[in-house]
Amino acid sequence: MLGPSTWRYINRTRLPHPSLFLTYIVYSVLRVLFNSQASLSYTSYVHVSRHLCLPHLRRQLTQRSKTAILLSYEMKPPLSLLNPSMPSGSGSLMWFRKGLRVHDNPALEYASRGSTCVYPLFVIDPHYMELDPNAYSPGSTRAGINRIRFLLESLADLDSSLKKLGSRLLVLKGEPSEVLIRCLNEWDVRKLCFEYDTDPYYQALDDKAKNYASAAGIEVFSPVSHTIFDPADIIEKNGGRPPLSYQSFLKLAGEPSFSLSVELSWMPPVGDVGRCEILQVPTLKELGYVEKHQDEFTPFRGGESEALRRLRESLSDKEWVANFEKPKGDPSAYIKPATTVLSPYLKFGCLSSRYFYQCLKDVYKNVKRHTSPPVSLVGQLLWREFFYTVAFGTPNFDEMKGNKICKQIPWNDDDKLLAAWREARTGYPWIDAIMVQLRKWGWMHHLARHSVACFLTRGDLFVHWEKGRDIFERLLIDSDWAINNGNWLWLSCSSFFYQYNRIYSPISFGRKYDPNGNYIRHFLPILKDMPKEYIYEPWTAPLSVQTKAKCIIGRDYPKPVVLHDTASNECRKKMGQAYALNQRLNGRVSEEDLRKLRRKFDEDEDKQEPKPRRQRQKLIK
Ligand code: FAD
Repeated sequence: MLGPSTWRYINRTRLPHPSLFLTYIVYSVLRVLFNSQASLSYTSYVHVSRHLCLPHLRRQLTQRSKTAILLSYEMKPPLSLLNPSMPSGSGSLMWFRKGLRVHDNPALEYASRGSTCVYPLFVIDPHYMELDPNAYSPGSTRAGINRIRFLLESLADLDSSLKKLGSRLLVLKGEPSEVLIRCLNEWDVRKLCFEYDTDPYYQALDDKAKNYASAAGIEVFSPVSHTIFDPADIIEKNGGRPPLSYQSFLKLAGEPSFSLSVELSWMPPVGDVGRCEILQVPTLKELGYVEKHQDEFTPFRGGESEALRRLRESLSDKEWVANFEKPKGDPSAYIKPATTVLSPYLKFGCLSSRYFYQCLKDVYKNVKRHTSPPVSLVGQLLWREFFYTVAFGTPNFDEMKGNKICKQIPWNDDDKLLAAWREARTGYPWIDAIMVQLRKWGWMHHLARHSVACFLTRGDLFVHWEKGRDIFERLLIDSDWAINNGNWLWLSCSSFFYQYNRIYSPISFGRKYDPNGNYIRHFLPILKDMPKEYIYEPWTAPLSVQTKAKCIIGRDYPKPVVLHDTASNECRKKMGQAYALNQRLNGRVSEEDLRKLRRKFDEDEDKQEPKPRRQRQKLIK
């Protein structure tokens, strides 16, 4: 047996070591005797021998199996070496990330087809899931607690569905690419299957995984099933550029042609996991969270079962589905939301968008008339496809800088205003109630999102859309890279939509739907006794009314951080100047150009009557 100094010699010199070289000759002779096709170079042989010399493996191996492994090395090195007790069958690794479902899951179907065993793997990335005590809201470094809980529920549900099929979910913890590569090394894997993902994070991760698997001779199957269309196809049809309007997207996309994957009635057993320590789906507590971290959790439970139940419930009202018109929905409806609330299930892939689409088409077939895109329910799914396509085909889609489709605007860096918005302290009850719903539920109606996104950016506060995007990204349970960025670009009039003069009023917009302010009373109970005349503008209530309502403005509830009329006019002017700059420079606006324009904004403010500025300073505490 070779000792450490011999291995050092081999590594350093790369020359044949006498004793190892001798066994190599024996191996080559054996190869000829067995008439094997497998051939090993001396360096591969050294690599193999190193593994065979690991003490734990040495104990397990007979000389015969060592020879067998050596002979099969060329075809499949890491697996058979590190776990020689494995049957040399055809195992598959099904890598779950999104796509947390068993229905319409082509990657899972392929993994199960013709395999002796399947490893259904989910990797818990501590950065994404473990408690970060320094984050500004309960949660990890990257996600709020509601989304983490939703994900854990989805995993538990997936595990239970897999168990019904004779399998189970294998949960491991660590940096995902490292864990995956270790599994590919140690398990009996001939096929690596995972749903294709267009997010930049997954593109980078998947490249690593694919490169490793290919080098190890493992087949990779990564179908597009998170979306109805393949964004790359649409971009190709459009000459390599993503379509930048919904209508042009519809024209290019046409009718989708997919077939749902077959429903699984059983699955091959889980393979031998060797020395890997498999975890159960953890609880929030096991990830470091304690009760006090959240006063109220989202009412929406995660998982495929709940997704399908919710879908059935929505579809059971055929009239509602057929007549659905998004702009007519009431954003203040919270007991029974005006839309499906299927977004978090689509985000995690607990619900297949293709299945949802097909179900909607089935409903349409059985009704006399139905609404159409962009306002119909099918139209909503196509908005999702649209944003996925543009996001996939646009470098730096999630930034202003270096993003060709984004107007360059010198937004404010006002962290005080941003904090007031994030913490529901703007003094505008409609805006603050929505932000409380975001923190508590992680979900709000689309038009409610419009209101707060417009208010933060081009409507009132002129704060950078990327800052609002970050807060949504953390707190939404349906937080989705393509859709969130796409909508922030839209709402801030940075891309897609350019009518910056049209600003949502933080007072009259909500009142139109909910004159009594029930939504505000629910999410901002401090205002629950405010008479309806003042509920949208409580600072205008006489002191006697405030006293009676047990809510003194400026003490129990903040005064408005800006005066909407003044602030929105200032915003319009700034947007006009920023648009003119973009037009003049044909979109090639430099940092210096933006700095100059920002200085001009400041000078203009100083020249203005001092009143609104003083008022604004006084209102921000
Ligand atoms: P429904 O009206 O029932 O629609 C069904 C599905 O269609 C949704 O689940 C969603 O997948 C898709 N859809 C609906 N509207 C849109 C839209 N405008 N763009 C793209 N897809 C759409 N949606 C997310 O899923 N994740 C996000 O991170 C996200 N961030 C947003 C940020 C802002 C600033 C704004 C204005 C909107 C954002 N949206 C986001 C889009 C939209 O608000 C939500 O998809 C919708 O409110 C979800 O509710 P629902 O499932 O009941 O929608």
